Amino acid sequence: MALRDISHFYVGQSGEPVDRFADVFDPNSGEIQARVALGTAADLEHAVAAARAAQPGWAATNPQRRARVLFRFKELVEANMAALAHLLSSEHGKVIADSRGDIQRGLDVIEFACGVPHLLKGEYTQGAGPGIDVYSMRQPLGIVAGITPFNFPAMIPMWMFGIAIAVGNAFILKPSERDPSVPVRLAELMIEAGLPEGILQVVQGDKTVVDAILDHPEINAVSFVGSSDVAHYVYSRGVAAGKRVQAMGGAKNHGIVMPDADLDQVVEDVAGAAFGSAGERCMALPVVVPVGEDVADRLRQKLIPAIEALRVGVSTDSEAHYGPVVSAQHKARIEDYIRTGVEEGAELVVDGRGFTLQGHEKGFFIGPSLFDHVKPTMRSYRDEIFGPVLQIVRAHSFEEALRLPSDHQYGNGVAIFTRNGHAAREFAARVNVGMVGINVPIPVPVAYHSFGGWKRSAFGDTNQHGMEGVRFWTKAKTVTQRWPDGGATGDSAFIIPTL
Ligand code: NAD
Repeated sequence: MALRDISHFYVGQSGEPVDRFADVFDPNSGEIQARVALGTAADLEHAVAAARAAQPGWAATNPQRRARVLFRFKELVEANMAALAHLLSSEHGKVIADSRGDIQRGLDVIEFACGVPHLLKGEYTQGAGPGIDVYSMRQPLGIVAGITPFNFPAMIPMWMFGIAIAVGNAFILKPSERDPSVPVRLAELMIEAGLPEGILQVVQGDKTVVDAILDHPEINAVSFVGSSDVAHYVYSRGVAAGKRVQAMGGAKNHGIVMPDADLDQVVEDVAGAAFGSAGERCMALPVVVPVGEDVADRLRQKLIPAIEALRVGVSTDSEAHYGPVVSAQHKARIEDYIRTGVEEGAELVVDGRGFTLQGHEKGFFIGPSLFDHVKPTMRSYRDEIFGPVLQIVRAHSFEEALRLPSDHQYGNGVAIFTRNGHAAREFAARVNVGMVGINVPIPVPVAYHSFGGWKRSAFGDTNQHGMEGVRFWTKAKTVTQRWPDGGATGDSAFIIPTL
């Protein structure tokens, strides 16, 4: 049987025959289920041409009408939720309920973007000088692009295009080649919701399309989410080409456990945050830092049975805590890191390697692992593993615990578990990390706040969604106006005017 082809979603046909494809797997079965076109610079050019034709009209559409398209899109996504979640799980491997969460967290940003008439209101000063008023407005950038990772194929595209389109841009999406179908469905639903053709297009591909985006003189801004080396590359090349770029990277989030924390609650929270979605979340919590040997021993004793009780299953198993990882290569990479951890001298308390699921022996499943006595010098600690592996790093004091996430190369999220308000407040103020949870294991900010890490977790200076998103996808214009009451004074000003 011929494989299903997943192609671009853009206006018109490129006329170019597709000669490069990537396999799209079902991680549950380990089988190739489709192939996705890998686009070229010519494919991107077609999308840019359509965007160029459509964008001025969309920018001139009043913001209330633009918002109405998003309202309708939200309804359509809700009506199609079950099918979208199923499609997402079949390519990503996360369990269906988690796929629904992926879609819902994206819809939250769409809801925020529905307020765009209000969000775009500018500032106004009457009488900044004699007869002078000053006002500002935010205008769209024109044609913009987003490049997204495999791990949130619905949420992250919606983080970007929801706001970018609401404010009047034309948006070109280059999704991950591992799970490319949901982004295409989302673009189809946007058109069904009334979006003019050319305002949201999807060009499938790999580095070739990414480079074409970064070099394209008409693409004015690029938002990227993925691993840090690629993020840094995208940031540098995009900025060198004169674009506005925000590039979010990898993570290694720590959960600090103070001696007064409620350990049963911590175990529940950490198990979900470390192993949910097989640890393939940039806001996962793969490092836990108990403060004091006594807490460490008690926490370890409670974690072991909780981890051993985790159910690994296919995406459609409603009892499963998590499903397979995304690819055979990624599974091998995670297992390599477990071997490295052992070689470096960490204690492997629970070993998830060699796990197979009966009836799905070729699926990319991996059992949960727990390491204790992990040291900050170890490579398995310094690197992001992005799998179902939890590491215990023991600290002797609050100050030592604070230093661990603060000194780490990544600075995406961090959590502290404590009943002590002063310790929590001190931690939040001093930790060198962008998003902080206080007794909240995965502190992903809600849609109307902004998402972004520090250090190698984000390059650029503007976060995703919330008002930072509105600022990223628009440029400010400030107008100083004077309506003289007639008659020149004859005075020319040769020095800078002061008031
Ligand atoms: P990835 O870096 O492999 O891919 C991300 C995107 O970049 C994809 O669209 C891919 O096609 C493209 N790409 C890959 N290699 C490239 C190259 N050499 N040149 C140009 N483009 C390239 O990331 P992934 O494996 O899809 O996603 C997982 C990573 O994303 C993890 O590191 C995770 O922490 C990170 N992530 C970060 C956030 C965040 O907000 N900080 C959110 C989600 C995921």
